[in-house]
Amino acid sequence: MNETLIQGAYIIAGLLFILALAGLSKHETAVQGNKYGIVGMAIALVATLWLATKSAGFDALGIIAVAMAIGAVVGITLARKVEMTGMPELIAMLHSFVGLAAVIVGWNSSYESAAYPGIHDGEVFVGVFIGAVTFTGSIVAYLKLSAKMKSAPLVLPGRHVLNLGIIVAFVVMMVVYILVPHENVFLRQLLLGIMTVLALFLGWHLVASIGGGDMPVVVSMLNSYSGWAAAAAGFLLNNDLLIITGALVGSSGAYLSYIMCRAMNRSFISVIAGGFGSDGAVVGEAKDYGEHRETNAIEVADSLKNAHEVIITPGYGMATAQAQYAVAELTSQLRKRGVNVRFGIHPVAGRLPGHMNVLLAEAKVPYDIVLEMDEINEDFPETDVVLVIGANDTVNPAAQDDPTSPIAGMPVLEVWKSAEVVVFKRSMNTGYAGVQNPLFFKDNSAMLFGDAKERVEDIVKAL
Ligand code: NDP
Repeated sequence: MNETLIQGAYIIAGLLFILALAGLSKHETAVQGNKYGIVGMAIALVATLWLATKSAGFDALGIIAVAMAIGAVVGITLARKVEMTGMPELIAMLHSFVGLAAVIVGWNSSYESAAYPGIHDGEVFVGVFIGAVTFTGSIVAYLKLSAKMKSAPLVLPGRHVLNLGIIVAFVVMMVVYILVPHENVFLRQLLLGIMTVLALFLGWHLVASIGGGDMPVVVSMLNSYSGWAAAAAGFLLNNDLLIITGALVGSSGAYLSYIMCRAMNRSFISVIAGGFGSDGAVVGEAKDYGEHRETNAIEVADSLKNAHEVIITPGYGMATAQAQYAVAELTSQLRKRGVNVRFGIHPVAGRLPGHMNVLLAEAKVPYDIVLEMDEINEDFPETDVVLVIGANDTVNPAAQDDPTSPIAGMPVLEVWKSAEVVVFKRSMNTGYAGVQNPLFFKDNSAMLFGDAKERVEDIVKAL
């Protein structure tokens, strides 16, 4: 395989990655999209291995094979073990590896800089910076998502000035780094070292200062950062495919963050700057909302029998209870009785983008009755019964009514506008954002306590 063939293989792999992304944007084409991605990655791997043997001889293959075997064992073990609910943590952890790799590639490349013009120094600096921010930012996201660190935002005094100061220091140090002659090894390494430490701190601080409820945007933002870190490594390693792939991940992650920000009514700029959704509001405050009402499976089954319009709004609890099959069974029984059942999916329901859609698709709920929040929000006033299955923050009216709430301004599913709401959960505990939900205390709401899967099965039996 000569150079032209390798470049050709890279272009084909790049195109397959674009097709993969396009396919993954819709339920119907997602499986095909995944297949394009797998083929693209296989082509990329073969071409890269070939390139490695060309430049470093067949001995390199042995080292790469050992590294790949270790990576494959760790990857397969983790992928088999991880629950769907643990995916965001795993993804955050994997992003941290990309960041660390970019830092290592950058530092390694800095020792070779002597042979390259100034632009290479700039690439080293940018690569290490993005990599270090991604590395520590992803570790904090992992710790917060897995509840090993408090999800409440860290509010340091003058935090925006601090972030901005580090970015300015980075730019200044980069200019000096490019201008300093290569013989001055000590000063160059000192600059790179200080910048690495500052960038590690910035990544930690950016994510630590973001409140739990805003974590979905952070995960997709870190996804984007990891893409840019990979693209920077691609420049350093002179690998076009890594640049293309990194840019695809970087831009699609940034776009996803933008869509999520819009869905949560946050400004994209304030996310990048860190600390949003964290203006010191009290989380989990002990305000008195009155009494809640309890119901049971038989009563709910009766309401459902008499209903014409039913909307199910699932959330994280449906995932932990693995209630999607029971929910699909309930849906099919009600549809057989002529009840119009539809699903309302909040863009950040669950713990990762598209979480609910994946679970419902797995349980074979027809796609055409699974609607996005914007498509269904106006229909709640004409709905007889809403079943809130393990959702909490995404159906919290405080987001609209209480400007002091930490989730104020986040668009929510307006379930309380329907005639009757049944909330499936195990206790009166708060959801992910740690805020109390006034929905539970409304006159038209009733709580159905217990594990969501068991309660839905009870209703199916009662029907
Ligand atoms: P929430 O996390 O707000 O609430 C889930 C509710 O499910 C809890 O109140 C819990 O109550 C209940 N629950 C848990 N286990 C069970 C069970 N076995 N049976 C019945 N109920 C159960 O969920 P939402 O989906 O409404 O909101 C998602 C939240 O997660 C948002 O704050 C979002 O910002 C955040 N997030 C979203 C991500 C994404 O990309 N989608 C990523 C990271 C965070 P109880 O304990 O009383 O049972």
